[in-house]
Amino acid sequence: MSSKEEEKPGKKALNFIEEIIEEDLRTGKNEGRVHTRFPPEPNGYLHIGHAKSICLNFGLAEKYNGLCNLRFDDTNPAKEEVEYVDSILEDVKWLGFQWHDKPYYASDYFDQLYAWAVKLILDGKAYVDDQTAEEIAANRGTPTRPGNESPFKNRSVEENLQLFEQMKNGEYKDGEKVLRAKIDMSSPNMHLRDPAIYRIKHAEHHRTGNKWCIYPMYDFAHGESDYLEGITHSVCTLEFEVHRPLYDWFISNLVETEYRPRQIEFARLNLNYTVMSKRKLLTLVKEKYVNGWDDPRMPTISGLRRRGFSPESIRNFAEKVGVAKRDNVIDVGLLEFCVREDLNRKVPRVMAVLDPLKIVIINYPVDQVEYLEIENNPEDEKMGKREMPFSREIYIEKADFMEDPPKKYFRLIPGGEVRLKAGYIIKCENIIKNDAADVTEVHCSYDPETKSGSDSSRKVKGTLHWVSATHALDAEVRLYDRLFLNENPDDVDEGMDYKSNINPESLRMVHAKVEPGLESAQVLDKFQFQRLGYFCVDMDSKPGKLVFNRTVTLRDSWVKKNP
Ligand code: ATP
Ligand code: MG
Repeated sequence: MSSKEEEKPGKKALNFIEEIIEEDLRTGKNEGRVHTRFPPEPNGYLHIGHAKSICLNFGLAEKYNGLCNLRFDDTNPAKEEVEYVDSILEDVKWLGFQWHDKPYYASDYFDQLYAWAVKLILDGKAYVDDQTAEEIAANRGTPTRPGNESPFKNRSVEENLQLFEQMKNGEYKDGEKVLRAKIDMSSPNMHLRDPAIYRIKHAEHHRTGNKWCIYPMYDFAHGESDYLEGITHSVCTLEFEVHRPLYDWFISNLVETEYRPRQIEFARLNLNYTVMSKRKLLTLVKEKYVNGWDDPRMPTISGLRRRGFSPESIRNFAEKVGVAKRDNVIDVGLLEFCVREDLNRKVPRVMAVLDPLKIVIINYPVDQVEYLEIENNPEDEKMGKREMPFSREIYIEKADFMEDPPKKYFRLIPGGEVRLKAGYIIKCENIIKNDAADVTEVHCSYDPETKSGSDSSRKVKGTLHWVSATHALDAEVRLYDRLFLNENPDDVDEGMDYKSNINPESLRMVHAKVEPGLESAQVLDKFQFQRLGYFCVDMDSKPGKLVFNRTVTLRDSWVKKNP
């Protein structure tokens, strides 16, 4: 039977990485083990692109009963910080994944990597170069023109050993010398043109302190770390395809083994209206374009969490995006679609008025309060019901009243009727204005026979959300829009950069009125505000001072564009 025939209806086709793994399993490679890893460099917070990689690597391990390591590629002490390590641990856990054993660190292998560098020297396969970084770059050649051999390439093994040792002992300044692999200065693959493998860096490392003043290059650490951890499938993004021959060269020249981590490249996730490079994200934070790495406008996992995204919505997004072999750009609307889809059934629907207009119900007794029953989520009966106070004065949205309405405006208009959700039908009787002719209050009458759930047969076209003015709580609500104006944030005028593309209205704050039941809402609690969108309690929220973030509006442009 061909694999097509075996496929059950509704079963998803394998992606190309799963195909490779299943083939390896069929042929008994690596004794049937599947061991992946997620290897962040702790030089920033993780973003949605990393989430894609996390879901992929941990997901493959789950699917094939394998293991997945979390490994910090911490070879560059200058840019790395413990804060980043901690945030990465938290984000991976929050997404719902558990790494194998303990977190691993490339820095755990510094002794081994040093020993391997010495081995390369002993084998005549590495040399200490005194050229400056600029000279080395200038002598590298171009893809079509071979590079120039270093004048230091033919140093003796003894001299190289001694110099490398002195480098280690701190006898030289940063950049004064570098250890290079002796491979091929005319290789069409630039990465094989005697790449640097160890450099001098007098900097304290977040884990090894001041033990070292030389550090392995990322390229010299990555493949070896995979090897040392027994990784079978080393999944990475496309830009590393050209590094693969180098990683293979290192393993072949360092150890005698049949086993080799198999590197598989896939296209990195790109999202429109979003920048994803850590360098750019760091700039946004440092130059205060946003309020920190976890600003809800950031595409970081911590930003998305604070904004109200659930781990499930991000995992579903990663699944829907799939894995591609060619670079592409995903519509950020798909991410928004995924969070709506997840929260729709899960979170309670509550009433909040973002832009309040006072309604006085003139025929309702002044001190009367009644409690109206309302379902918490019509999509799920099990979520139960609650009671909301109703009284003579309520708030509705300003936009739900128009003195001079266009056609097909089914909300409140002079002389018109609307239903209050879970309440009564009200009729607009009188409009109160201030000196500037702004509407400050609308006086309405209510029809006591029309209470929601009663057998009143009267129907009206519009249903509005509302809160009781005397009972409502004040809340600060932060309304977010895309951080960038252009689909491609780098699409800017000459001489400008992505920062000139920032949407000046990406954050708008409003003072809202919310139903009293929200008093006990806890940080990260999520709600649908009826007719408005999904909202999440921000960590700035305190008893007596509620703060909400808007996760997304209810409108779904992505589905409309992609039916
Ligand atoms: P940046 O280029 O933004 O600085 P990076 O790729 O250098 O990020 P790492 O910490 O090295 O960041 O990434 C850890 C892992 O996450 C790598 O395996 C990398 O391939 C993967 N990754 C990073 N960005 C993306 C992305 N946009 N889509 C998918 N995977 C990604
Ligand atoms: Mg990287």
